[in-house]
Amino acid sequence: MDQDLAALLDDLVSATTREEVPSADSLLAVLASGDDDLLDVVAAAARVRRRWFGRRVKLAYLVNLRSGLCPEDCTYCSQRLGSAAEILRYTWLRAPEALGAARAGIDAGASRVCLVASGRGPTERDVTRVCGVVSRIVEEHPGVEVCACLGLLSDGQAERLRDAGASAYNHNLNASEDAYPEICTTHEHADRVATVRRVQGAELSACSGLIAGAGETPEQLVDVLLELRALDPDSVPVNFLVPFEGTPLAGRHELTPQRCLRILAAARFALPRAELRLGAGRELHLRALQPLALHVASSLFLGDYLTAEGQDAAADLAMIADAGLEVEEVPGPAGRTAPSRVVPRRRGAGTDVAPNA
Ligand code: SF4
Repeated sequence: MDQDLAALLDDLVSATTREEVPSADSLLAVLASGDDDLLDVVAAAARVRRRWFGRRVKLAYLVNLRSGLCPEDCTYCSQRLGSAAEILRYTWLRAPEALGAARAGIDAGASRVCLVASGRGPTERDVTRVCGVVSRIVEEHPGVEVCACLGLLSDGQAERLRDAGASAYNHNLNASEDAYPEICTTHEHADRVATVRRVQGAELSACSGLIAGAGETPEQLVDVLLELRALDPDSVPVNFLVPFEGTPLAGRHELTPQRCLRILAAARFALPRAELRLGAGRELHLRALQPLALHVASSLFLGDYLTAEGQDAAADLAMIADAGLEVEEVPGPAGRTAPSRVVPRRRGAGTDVAPNA
């Protein structure tokens, strides 16, 4: 390995132990490193991962409560205004279907359920509806974390979700402030930051991440990592663009498995204590290097994504075991001793479409 890169990686690892914010230049150097140095970069990031997360992998499960039909125009999103992507489109799932979907994920080993609805932000009635589902999940599955993801929040909505039993709220920055106008014109980066701060103000655990491969420059990628570091979310999903036909980013393929690993390593150095979650696009872009990514990230989504199909859950569980890692169990007396290891992908569950159609 190049001696300068070796010294840089050592500095980055030791900076994380002092909780120092890494420089933009050092993160850019990680992104610019070559394929010959890839395993050294991953090994350095893995040291940081092990320090804070050991061999644990947290499994999260997405329940798409409302799909498509969003009035916002985020270019990367298959649910955006005017999207012609072939996705499921439906208004709110009824509570029994939402609960059934959550149970499937929990039974398969998920210790976190993410209740997601497309749209700019929830009405008070929407929050009431979601609070009902949250409280039922918490009652039935003590110890399982429930994260809501409903868009931009207004005053008091985070508190209502918290009081219903939600432990976290997701609202991704997705892109840096500088890049944001290129990916969305219907709301601003500052709106997203404000929602993450509202979540933290309500003492909910903040989950906020990014999307890579959507045309951003390395500098913009580093900017969003450092913006996230400044916000200090507890968990950070890293999504890799799934370039849906029918969206403005159709056909865009900027990522390689090696680049994805470098992005994850940079994220690990920038956010050493955050639960880095492999998000949508991991199967498409990391491909056979997914197990290596798990030595940098500490979490993944089981089953299907909101509008894209995921890998079979049994394959994910086998991958985790083969990598020498362990699924994080639900804490407390209600926790299982072992997940059932059965999960359908279920993207269509709760709709008129058969699961996995
Ligand atoms: S990312 Fe969210 S706000 Fe943007 S178009 Fe998609 S569902 Fe709507």
